[in-house]
Amino acid sequence: SNIPKIVILGAGYGGILTAQRLQKELKYNEADVTLVNRHDYHYITTHLHMPAAGTDTIEHSRVPISKLIDEFKIDLVKSTVKEIRVQEKKVILEDGLLTYDYLVIGLGGEPETFGIRGMKEHAMTIRSINSVRMIREHVEYQFALYKNDRRESRLNFVVGGAGFSGIEFVAELADRIPVLCREFDVDPNRVNIYNVEAAPTALPGFDPELVEYAMDVLKRKGVTFRIGVPIKECLPDGVIVGEGEKIQAQTIVWTGGIRGNHIIEDAGFEVMRGRVKVDEFLRAPGYDHIFIIGDNSLFFNPEGRPYPPTAQIAMQQGVTCARNVVAAIRRRQPHKFVFSNKGTVASLGKGEAVAVVGGRKMKGWTAAQLKKIVDMRYLFIIGGIPLVLKKGRFF
Ligand code: FAD
Ligand code: NAD
Repeated sequence: SNIPKIVILGAGYGGILTAQRLQKELKYNEADVTLVNRHDYHYITTHLHMPAAGTDTIEHSRVPISKLIDEFKIDLVKSTVKEIRVQEKKVILEDGLLTYDYLVIGLGGEPETFGIRGMKEHAMTIRSINSVRMIREHVEYQFALYKNDRRESRLNFVVGGAGFSGIEFVAELADRIPVLCREFDVDPNRVNIYNVEAAPTALPGFDPELVEYAMDVLKRKGVTFRIGVPIKECLPDGVIVGEGEKIQAQTIVWTGGIRGNHIIEDAGFEVMRGRVKVDEFLRAPGYDHIFIIGDNSLFFNPEGRPYPPTAQIAMQQGVTCARNVVAAIRRRQPHKFVFSNKGTVASLGKGEAVAVVGGRKMKGWTAAQLKKIVDMRYLFIIGGIPLVLKKGRFF
């Protein structure tokens, strides 16, 4: 048929928003839309630090995609993308092949290990439902093992990187440890949580007063910070930091940064840390029918610096991307993407958070309430009131 084919890769923040907007804006038979995702659920990445530490259930962090899109309008394909062939306009899946006229790439990022020896092999990362299940089970198992072999390193937990992911996870872990100590009859004084950060400060680039507040809260919860100390190597039983010091630990979680998906650079796009610098309409340079959004795109602010990869920008890009795909099909002018920064809120565990919203700083309980509102707003945007009631965390 002559109906244009739109293929969306990835049902994360960017991909879901694109799909939802397309299904709303496209007229009957105006285009065929296919959404490809590795799982039949969408996961709420911004919640994953909680199930990773075991302070919240997995089910609060995922939603069946069929509940978010209209399957009469969008074909959902549960499969893994293996390769994008831009010259042939084809996508190779693990179990098939798709052709497209318009391609939206929203496959999300991957952990960046900067070539640190042993990191890929021995550290765990917070990136999907399956990866956080692994962390939670591993942490619990260390307690069980400790009661049998008494190896002190089982009670040492290293989190590499004190960016937002590291800080949010370490906070949840600090909340969970007392619960595990009670459950497994372990003296809490024997447990050590180390958050190791290479930069001269935790949360580099964030408001210094709020960084200090965040660190104070976490120190009180039992976190030991090692700031200005790079991890040099990761071993099965610890990490080598700074000038060769070893921190013994059977648990290492790497939150040292993310990069673009390797599929993108394998496809031949020019990348920086795996990301493609897209044009003002979110298109890959040289391809007016390929859009790249979310963690795989590099978009520069008016001062010429790239925006950090966040769920917030991925969602906004999804909306603009859908408009531009529709515009292309209707042979109209595309719309420029303009990021509207709603602020940053970072959780510090139960009842604590820090935030900068509209230039205003917030901390403590108020910021923690704001974090819940931001989380619920997202559920509302993608799934309305029913999803808020089902997955929202009200307490
Ligand atoms: P993703 O949301 O990562 O989605 C990618 C999708 O593609 C996934 O569904 C994945 O399964 C699928 N996929 C990947 N590879 C394949 C393949 N080969 N084949 C098929 N499907 C595939 N940002 C904020 O703005 N606010 C926050 O509070 C916040 N908190 C965070 C907390 C944590 C613990 C973490 C790790 C990140 C947080 N972020 C936050 C960052 C945010 O989650 C990401 O920037 C955002 O998820 C990027 O969206 P995306 O659409 O690019 O990709
Ligand atoms: P990041 O790149 O922001 O932070 C990684 C940290 O690891 C940096 O501070 C870096 O200096 C440190 N690091 C790198 N190499 C190291 C080494 N060898 N040893 C020790 N430390 C090392 O990555 P992230 O925290 O995963 O965040 C990714 C993106 O997601 C960011 O854009 C962030 O803003 C966003 N995010 C936002 C929130 C929120 O808004 N609440 C939460 C999580 C993530």
